[in-house]
Amino acid sequence: MYRFHMKVYGCQMNVYDSDRARTALRRRGWVEASEDEADMIVFTGCSVRGKAEQKVWSELGRYAPSWQKNRRPYVALTGCIAQSLGERAFSRYPWVRLVSGPRHIGLLPEGLERVMENGRRVTLLDEDPREFFDLDEFSGVRDNKYRGYVTIAHGCDNFCTYCIVPHVRGRFLSRPPADVLQEVRRLVESGAKEITLLGQNVNSYGNDFKNDYGFVRLLREVARAEGVERVRFVTSLPQDFTEEIARVMAEEPTICPSLNLPIQSGSDRILKLMNRKYSRAEYMEKVRMVRRLLPESGLASDLIVGFPGETEEDFEESMSALSEICFDLVHTAAYSERSGTPAATMPGALPQEVRMDRLNRVNKLQDSITLSINKALIGRSYRVLVEGPAPRGEGLLQGRTPTDRVVLLPGDEELSGNFVTVEITEAESWCLRGKIIERPDLL
Ligand code: SF4
Repeated sequence: MYRFHMKVYGCQMNVYDSDRARTALRRRGWVEASEDEADMIVFTGCSVRGKAEQKVWSELGRYAPSWQKNRRPYVALTGCIAQSLGERAFSRYPWVRLVSGPRHIGLLPEGLERVMENGRRVTLLDEDPREFFDLDEFSGVRDNKYRGYVTIAHGCDNFCTYCIVPHVRGRFLSRPPADVLQEVRRLVESGAKEITLLGQNVNSYGNDFKNDYGFVRLLREVARAEGVERVRFVTSLPQDFTEEIARVMAEEPTICPSLNLPIQSGSDRILKLMNRKYSRAEYMEKVRMVRRLLPESGLASDLIVGFPGETEEDFEESMSALSEICFDLVHTAAYSERSGTPAATMPGALPQEVRMDRLNRVNKLQDSITLSINKALIGRSYRVLVEGPAPRGEGLLQGRTPTDRVVLLPGDEELSGNFVTVEITEAESWCLRGKIIERPDLL
């Protein structure tokens, strides 16, 4: 019986992959333990931003004293960070005994057992970006029982010039619809009420099939699957988000009216340098379409500031796009070089101070936009899925509106996993606060 401890950094896909690996290890007889007691520490890390990569890198160094004392714990590095740093981790840290790229997840449990048996190093890096060894497991063990995630497609073929994903997660590959639907059923059986479909670009789902089965059909089938009460999906590429998808969202009551449509920049010149295949005007057209067909929807976005060559005028165009569109939420980031991507060697790299100054300015603007949108919601009521105790907010519960806004509310923990109707009473820029006006009878 081996003891393992998981440490997960990065996006929802990493969380989902490590939950599946966790479930598989437990099924094989492994026991989850605290970090101090584990024989094997499994890191799943993100390589999309330099900061996340540095964090894992420095964490790996912390095992030196215990390794020198008793040659434990073994450490495994998995996920996209393993793909980018795996060989270096081997040469620098003797306690790293396994590296596994995201497309080798199916071989991970057996690889970890090989390390435990003989202590020898195991390399499962993704040499071929088209090959995929999937894990026949769902995220049965997950932090939130009521929310389940399902990857519908792996990898990406878009090659935005700043992005490392196509280099570390390989070529685009849709999962067969039967597998996705079976996983949704398993999640529902294990208590999930809300299903989120994951992919770097979910809208391209099925483009690699020989038939015409695509995202619209999958979305509708998941929305109608027995026991599914809410469906969300991330991420959508603006050029691939169609009116047909918006119509399915409007027609199917279980699909949440919330959408993440990453704009990345408001400047056409920068969008071109980023190899994003839309102009600002085309993006605006999509926003108008979404708001026409889904007037009550929550619209989120991603934005990068300080891309190589971004002038003050380009940056101002991003600021004006935010003011014009009024997103509900924007995930902002200062550009960070990812080695091996075209943007990393582009001329016009900006000093860190300029990037951080722009990041602060853009955050300030978006915070004020989000706050004024949220304030206008005071007095309105929403159906909220209670997820459990709030991580921030003593004694409060946390849930989400269909439009994906976090709501904090007083109430009994036994309401977790139930839908309640909440009236919004206060608004902050990152969350809403409310009171329950209708709740199920749990007796
Ligand atoms: S669409 Fe662009 S930003 Fe998104 S994962 Fe693919 S390459 Fe990266």
